[in-house]
Amino acid sequence: MRKLLFKSLYWKISAIFLLVLLLLGIAFNFLTLFSAEMYFQEGNQRLHREFARFIADLLQPYTRDTLEQSEIIHVFEQVHTMNPSVEIYLLDEGGNILSSSTARENLKLDRVAIEPIQRFIAVDGKQFTMGEDPKGLHKEKVFTAAPFLANGKQVGYVYVILGGEEYDSALQFIQQNYILRLGVRTLFISLIAAAIIGLVSLGFLTRRLRRMTNVVTAFGAGDLSQRITIQSDDEIGMAARAFNQMADTIQRHVDELAAVDSLRRELVANISHDLRTPLSSMQGYVETVILKNNSLTGDERRQYLQTILDSTVKLNKLVQELFELSKLDAKQTLPKPEPFSLTELVQDVSQKFQPQAEKNSIHLEMQFDKDLPYVFADIGLIERVLQNLLENALKFTPKNGRVAVFIELVDAKLKVHMTDTGCGIPESDIPNIFDRFYRSSRNRSRNDGAGLGLAIVKRVLELHDENISVESSEQTGSTFTFALPIFHK
Ligand code: ADP
Repeated sequence: MRKLLFKSLYWKISAIFLLVLLLLGIAFNFLTLFSAEMYFQEGNQRLHREFARFIADLLQPYTRDTLEQSEIIHVFEQVHTMNPSVEIYLLDEGGNILSSSTARENLKLDRVAIEPIQRFIAVDGKQFTMGEDPKGLHKEKVFTAAPFLANGKQVGYVYVILGGEEYDSALQFIQQNYILRLGVRTLFISLIAAAIIGLVSLGFLTRRLRRMTNVVTAFGAGDLSQRITIQSDDEIGMAARAFNQMADTIQRHVDELAAVDSLRRELVANISHDLRTPLSSMQGYVETVILKNNSLTGDERRQYLQTILDSTVKLNKLVQELFELSKLDAKQTLPKPEPFSLTELVQDVSQKFQPQAEKNSIHLEMQFDKDLPYVFADIGLIERVLQNLLENALKFTPKNGRVAVFIELVDAKLKVHMTDTGCGIPESDIPNIFDRFYRSSRNRSRNDGAGLGLAIVKRVLELHDENISVESSEQTGSTFTFALPIFHK
């Protein structure tokens, strides 16, 4: 559990966040301290700008003939007593120390760099400059300086280090005890405030991620109804939306698979049933013929053999249709479109059914203009469509009925209407008649088909990117309508 806790994104981001906060705080504190010190030193230098000149003026009486060292040192000591934070030096023009307010043995340098002093004097002390401190090696300090004249001629410089050693520690004391403490306290308070705000808002963000993970895990475990509630349009919201879309797609595919599976089961059941009936009838009659071979009259024998033949034909038709449908489904039979005359094809097919129509005293007629354009489709497959539709029309139309085929040109397509004055299809059956093995319950007794004819028709037209529709009433009969594109030269 502990391991998991520190592995979590929340803790990782929090650690980085706190570290950045800490570094920023430290950097800020140093910056504040440094700039406070610089600001202080610059102020100090400006305040004491005239101080060196004042001392140089004080020294004037002792420069008449030779430099009176003891007097000069006396003056230095007096000034130092009045202002212990300063160290005063008299330098020659090369920067060598001639006299100083501090005992010689306490000095670490005999000579200081002259350039900063010249720079300071050139800008009249108006620019912040640091110079060498003879009492401390490698440490620069703020200073004030002025030319030192003897008999009106420059012979060196008065060089005053502002803030000597004692002053140094006093400054440190102030820093440590005031600025630093204030800085650290401020830093500490702002760190805590920023950390609390940051951690709480991070907590909210990662809570959404954790919720998402829970949903995804539940989905992965098989609960396909799980969806993420989308709360915002940010990156997390987008990820959630993408997951929901993916989940919808998976759900749809699973549903489709389940539907296909149940259809497959249904098909197998239907096929076995449809094969079993004619087969057992054949078996029964063949057994009878064998058993009663000698006692059968010639008429009986013919009648039994006829029944066996009918069953064989039925079986053959069923197997043929199944084979055709499976080839259409597997896209083994792809339409090979070519231009042909639909009117001629309709006439050919009708002619084949003419004897059957006459047998049932059904009037089979065709209505279309002679000069209709060619259509562009697979002639073999369209012939099958016409055959199946005509076969049904004739099958379901009673004696003295009428079956008609109309063809008209509509929107660059030839529209075919196959109308009969048959028994019609109950409205509740219409959505299903194009399904495999569907036979209207009302007609089942008089229907010897397997319920595959219209499924083949629909599939063929689908492969031509076309549709078939049906209008039917139990009083007037049915009309099936489909269209085929005309051929453009
Ligand atoms: P079948 O081979 O059994 O005729 P179909 O797929 O061709 O199967 O037709 C499915 C069902 O649609 C039929 O059983 C029948 O009930 C109904 N049907 C099809 N055509 C007609 C029609 N012209 N008139 C009335 N019912 C029809």
